[in-house]
Amino acid sequence: MSNDNLTAVLYGIEDLRLEQRPVPEIADDEVLLKMDSVGICGSDVHYLVHGRIGDFVLTKPMIIGHEASGIVAKVGKKVKNLVVGDRVACEPGVPCRYCEHCKSGQYNLCPDMIFCATPPYDGNLTRYYKHAADFCYKLPDHVTMEEGALLEPLSVGVHACRRAGVGLGSKVLVLGAGPIGLVTLLAAQAMGAEQVMITDLVQDRLDVAKELGATHTLLMNKNDSAE
Ligand SMILES: [Zn+2]
Ligand SMILES: [Zn+2]
Repeated sequence: MSNDNLTAVLYGIEDLRLEQRPVPEIADDEVLLKMDSVGICGSDVHYLVHGRIGDFVLTKPMIIGHEASGIVAKVGKKVKNLVVGDRVACEPGVPCRYCEHCKSGQYNLCPDMIFCATPPYDGNLTRYYKHAADFCYKLPDHVTMEEGALLEPLSVGVHACRRAGVGLGSKVLVLGAGPIGLVTLLAAQAMGAEQVMITDLVQDRLDVAKELGATHTLLMNKNDSAE
């Protein structure tokens, strides 16, 4: 294994640096991943441009990136679900596992969540990254590493459609045709939606949505009134 661990570290607004970081040491229940593909999320861009998202403020250098896939390079002593060489997608938020939300299965609401690239926690736009083994999912052979990295944003669309109760014959409105809007469109179609209308301020994005199967597109204007 090489010691090259070139890493994208955000120091402040418009101050992103590439630097070498030590290869992380893993705990018994963790794996070391050789990262393959990492998406640049809107949140990464937000931290780069504004240095914060609401209450999450960048106060010290942070590694960006959380939409990721990699190959298992090392496994901790207690890891049973993965072996070296497995191709995996990362679920970027690791919860405490002990609070009421975690115990009731709604671990996404855990107040003590450690979420990649959300201050103060580092992300995974790096060569070597360690992660909880049970938050790494082995990819089937027909799923590419790039697709693996996109599972996290895709899950946002799946969650939105589940919450909205999308099913066979549903008519769905998706507001915004950025990446999250598009994965929501795809999820709605896969869940059986009959019609999906999608809106955006940019025609090019609507063209992509149309290619992906949106039945209706609507170009909005920033000056459109609330009515
Ligand atoms: Zn994201
Ligand atoms: Zn918890």
